Amino acid sequence: MKYSRLFPKTLKQVPSGAESLNHQLLVRAGFIHQEMAGVYTYLPLGWKVLDKISDIVREEMNAIGGQEIFMPVLHPGENWKKTGRFKSFDVLYKLKGAGDKDLVLGPTHEEIIYPLLAEYINSYKDLPLYLYQIQTKFRDEPRAKAGLLRGREFLMKDLYSFHTDDDDRDEYYKKVREAYFKIFKRIGIPVVKTKASGGTFSDLSEEFQTLTPSGEDTVFVCSKCGAAFNEEIIKGKNCLDCGGDLKKEKAIEVGNIFPLKRAYAEVFNLYFTDKAGEKRIVSAGCFGLGISRTMGAIVEVSHDEKGIIWPESVAPFKVHIVGLDLEDKTVMGEAEKIYKLLQVADPERSRRTEGVEVLFDDRVNVSAGVKFADADLIGIPYRVVVSKKTGDKLEVKKRSGKETMFKTLEQLVDIVCS
Ligand code: ATP
Ligand code: MG
Repeated sequence: MKYSRLFPKTLKQVPSGAESLNHQLLVRAGFIHQEMAGVYTYLPLGWKVLDKISDIVREEMNAIGGQEIFMPVLHPGENWKKTGRFKSFDVLYKLKGAGDKDLVLGPTHEEIIYPLLAEYINSYKDLPLYLYQIQTKFRDEPRAKAGLLRGREFLMKDLYSFHTDDDDRDEYYKKVREAYFKIFKRIGIPVVKTKASGGTFSDLSEEFQTLTPSGEDTVFVCSKCGAAFNEEIIKGKNCLDCGGDLKKEKAIEVGNIFPLKRAYAEVFNLYFTDKAGEKRIVSAGCFGLGISRTMGAIVEVSHDEKGIIWPESVAPFKVHIVGLDLEDKTVMGEAEKIYKLLQVADPERSRRTEGVEVLFDDRVNVSAGVKFADADLIGIPYRVVVSKKTGDKLEVKKRSGKETMFKTLEQLVDIVCS
């Protein structure tokens, strides 16, 4: 992608009303645009990041047998009345459709997936079943001032698992927990798992929390065994697992996993016939992960005073070529050559290149200072400078490091493809 064509360009000013750091940096760097509190447009750079996070989540969900579906945003109000949540779900968006019909904008999808499955599940042979989606959720959050951390419209991955019994569900629960650790490791943010009370859903649940001072949650982390606990359950000063001292930390809840209450299966008549021909209730688990919140969390934990520092796995591009002296046709030609070469898959090279995603700042007559500042703000992992001074060595710098390295094109390919 040529930066001259990229929509939009960076902003110098922090947008008014942007209180949180992820909001400020993501807007200034051109990743998102706020439409109203808690509602954002994802611009080309931001959409790429969100897509990469989604793909990592998708791969790990598929790896544990998840099948992807896509449920509607618009729900019949009737289903929500059946579970009682038409009244009790405090942040529910309700609207009226044709014929004065009550409708709901989905904040979660139990009210859709249970009646859906009730039509298809008959026998123990139909179970277990793991269905997930990556989908927009709506919640009328009273405070939506933390950028992507708390949206009124936001992207969530929700996985629902269905089983013949609680033991099978609990076995799968452990697999999902491992998958979550893999996901956050690949995305590049540290998480701790906390035991927490389940809010509107169930008595027991676990949360995946990213520790950072900007988080809205408070957790207590054991200095001895590393176990972590949400403030709602914790009474006293000691670890519930080992008795060690607890340290109070702020954190962002990026994921939440819990068994689902039987009431949903009862309300929507989700039963199956077991081997002995007996009718039994289906057991279920629910596994949420905030895709857009995770994007905000990455920025909160991975930035410096100049801008964002994207982990490689989710960066919108891998290499940012900063072209200087581009009025000079030879330099422009050289920069264009490197830009094209990096993007092409090349089986002939010592280490095969898959084709690297490159952003090329090809603007003519824009100062080096402005270009460097933009590169730092946007936060792509590798910055490569091509200028009049470039001989056979390119100036390469990692966004996360301080040191500038001088490398041949061949060496650069080896670095960015390793
Ligand atoms: P919170 O306590 O932060 O409101 P929650 O317990 O309501 O979260 P869940 O209903 O379990 O959240 O949703 C699953 C995941 O979706 C959460 O772990 C979080 O990552 C994400 N999420 C929840 N609410 C929001 C929101 N308003 N904006 C962005 N992401 C959210
Ligand atoms: Mg909530």
